[in-house]
Amino acid sequence: MFNHGMKVLVYSQKKSENEELGWYRDGRNILYFANGIKKDKGLNKSFYTLTFTLDFPYNDDTVFIAYSYPYTYSDLVNLLTNIESNDKTSEFCVRKTLCRTIAGNKCEYLTITSKNKDNKPHKRKSIVISARVHPGETVGSWMMQGVINFLTDLTNPEAKLLRDNFVFKIIPMLNPDGVINGNYRCSLAGCDLNRRWKKPNQLLHPTIYNAKKMILSLSRDRGVALFCDLHGHSKKKDVFIYGCNYEDDPTKTRVFPLILSKLCPLFSFEKSK
Ligand SMILES: [Zn+2]
Repeated sequence: MFNHGMKVLVYSQKKSENEELGWYRDGRNILYFANGIKKDKGLNKSFYTLTFTLDFPYNDDTVFIAYSYPYTYSDLVNLLTNIESNDKTSEFCVRKTLCRTIAGNKCEYLTITSKNKDNKPHKRKSIVISARVHPGETVGSWMMQGVINFLTDLTNPEAKLLRDNFVFKIIPMLNPDGVINGNYRCSLAGCDLNRRWKKPNQLLHPTIYNAKKMILSLSRDRGVALFCDLHGHSKKKDVFIYGCNYEDDPTKTRVFPLILSKLCPLFSFEKSK
């Protein structure tokens, strides 16, 4: 069952005009339960039903209902265009197209690193951060927007220190087609792109294919200090990391989340894996 914090999000055009209110949480009698309709005869897994009661605030209104705060493809394009049009920011941040998707949409990426020659640009390791491989996980985009705004901050000395010492490759939307078409998890090829990293197909999974190619070439040329793909969990709360495991050297991937948990009270090391 959903708890109090997981009420549905509502956007009423009339309420927005009259009360200057955007998205807000609402609804009651919210239930989520196994409905007894079997998914698969052998496996005994059930489909689920979500029900809720919602009062519409106005007559003749247009009302949108969402699972989480939306973050559209246009929201991302606006963010990238703002950054690109700032003369100061564009000195250390370059916007490029990684590839086109099946529908012909651009999958874009940013390269963020300072031009400061004293800090040996060719010796800087790279940090790759991506998001929205799962289109429904909009929280990943909100976090990504925070990451981009932080890394391109002109006055923050920590952001400058990071730009002086690393090359950031930011792929903010790995599945633009899914986002534009309102899919929750799939691409337009009907597959979960996050299950295609092992053997991506250039035509069917172009964003994964090209992201992997970029990461491999970074790994050869300068090393990858960190690769982080931002998701939203459907049940778990807090912020946490699921990482690869090095059996010979397990601390290798556990140090970063441990440090993060000490620095950020929102981050949970206990919930990380
Ligand atoms: Zn996900």
